Amino acid sequence: MKKGKLIIISAPSGTGKSTIIGQIINDPDLKLEFSISATTRPPRTGEIDGVHYHFLTVEQFKEAIANDALVEYEEVYEGRYYGTLKSEIERIQNNGKNVILDIDVKGGVNVKKMYGDNALSIFIQPPSIEVLRERLISRATDPIEAINQRVDKAAYELTFKDRFDVSVVNDDLNTAVQQTRSLINDFVN
Ligand code: 5GP
Repeated sequence: MKKGKLIIISAPSGTGKSTIIGQIINDPDLKLEFSISATTRPPRTGEIDGVHYHFLTVEQFKEAIANDALVEYEEVYEGRYYGTLKSEIERIQNNGKNVILDIDVKGGVNVKKMYGDNALSIFIQPPSIEVLRERLISRATDPIEAINQRVDKAAYELTFKDRFDVSVVNDDLNTAVQQTRSLINDFVN
């Protein structure tokens, strides 16, 4: 059986990356399966261990690094580690499925370097930093300092765009979903 390919999706936070992945993951033409990352952050309400993430203690995460069980890992937020498990990629590929990874911009660049032509790296971008700021303000879930921090981080993450194979602007969600779907379809089929 042909080995599955890798689809890397990265984006500045607040860009709608998870929503886009949610809308294409079950498309039968794409034969995707989600790579469940390891993380040391605590589960949010409704998140299930082994489904959304493999939730590890810091000790377990260090052990995974020592055992060479991770393809890559990053401290995405202070004290919060996230990493791609080798076992996940192998399991999905050996199943003949394509692996979809939702990882931060640095991880995305690193995985692309490792897998070369076997991977397609997609960068999802907000229409502009100003629009992102407005979206975060209108959501009204965060205090202004937190919004400013997220916007600053997003501006930094945007500088990674050119290191990806392709980018998709998430202005209109349906359009962004269709574009992402079509890029993946062309790559895997
Ligand atoms: P969240 O805590 O909101 O689930 O994820 C925070 C960030 O960590 C997101 O940008 C997500 O893409 C990233 N992330 C999730 N898993 C991994 C991983 O295995 N490796 C890296 N480098 N980033 C990850």
